Amino acid sequence: MDTMTRNRIRGCAVGAAVGDALGMPLEGSWRQPADRLVREMRAGRLPAGTITDDTEMALALAESLLAHCPLDPADLAQRFVAWFRAGPDDIGNQTYAVLARIAAGESWEQAVAAVQRRWPKSAGNGSVMRCWPVALAYWDDSDARQSGQRLDALLADSRLQSQVTHLHADCVAGSAFVNAAIYYLLHGTLPTDAIAQALEAVEMPEPLRRVIAAAPHQKRADLANSGWVRHTLESAVWGLLNTDTFEEALVQVVNLGGDADSAGAVVGALAGAAHGLDAIPLRWRETLRAEWPLGSGRIWRADDFIALADALASCSKPFEQSTSCT
Ligand SMILES: [Mg+2]
Repeated sequence: MDTMTRNRIRGCAVGAAVGDALGMPLEGSWRQPADRLVREMRAGRLPAGTITDDTEMALALAESLLAHCPLDPADLAQRFVAWFRAGPDDIGNQTYAVLARIAAGESWEQAVAAVQRRWPKSAGNGSVMRCWPVALAYWDDSDARQSGQRLDALLADSRLQSQVTHLHADCVAGSAFVNAAIYYLLHGTLPTDAIAQALEAVEMPEPLRRVIAAAPHQKRADLANSGWVRHTLESAVWGLLNTDTFEEALVQVVNLGGDADSAGAVVGALAGAAHGLDAIPLRWRETLRAEWPLGSGRIWRADDFIALADALASCSKPFEQSTSCT
């Protein structure tokens, strides 16, 4: 792997965590005035630099992929339940409803179907905010004959990781879209082209496609940035395509307030893949902290995310060998 690709892979993982932590104190706030944007890691309900459920669930997904690639959804569900039992500070409604049922003994298929029947229109960002590890596990298509197959596998596992908790078509397609965009960015495609190519590569409901396609042309004042998956994707694509640096992309998106940490995680994964680890401000990287596994007392720092990104990326082997990495 060349140095720039490695830098992008690491940038995706560290970028997602940094975006979550930068957005944490702004979650639920109003849009910040344009002349008073928050640019530093601040304490909120957690100490400055602390990640939230977005990154915790991504870590569970990453560890599941390191044990089973292609993804084993039952293993992923059990890892989510272990996290759920450890009592996270923060958990989305849909995720809570599904994991509580699995913890009580239902299979993940029964649990997610039951929750979907009850709230068929629910389409939160809970599966999109955590999806990036799949892109790192499937980045390598150096064997040209298998490149189409590799992207297909990336899209399939991106959808599957959503289906464990979020069955809505927008959530499933949104996860595939984000990871397709990361895939193209890791291969050096310019952000505008990466978004266009990801829109082309992924089947999705037309209203979602229109939201993503229009996102770069939106005005800051019109971005709602709620927990609805369409709003999160809109904010993340807007931030990626209207800025030139990693720092500015994150600052613009988390200062929209609302679901600032989740939109921050998504734009962080995208902008990290676009600009690479070296573009992530050192002052943010040095503040980053994550207790993982939750309740263990072990604190992850930026270097741990780098090691995780490298481990995921080395899972990405010639297609037929891709079964397990540990
Ligand atoms: Mg969160």
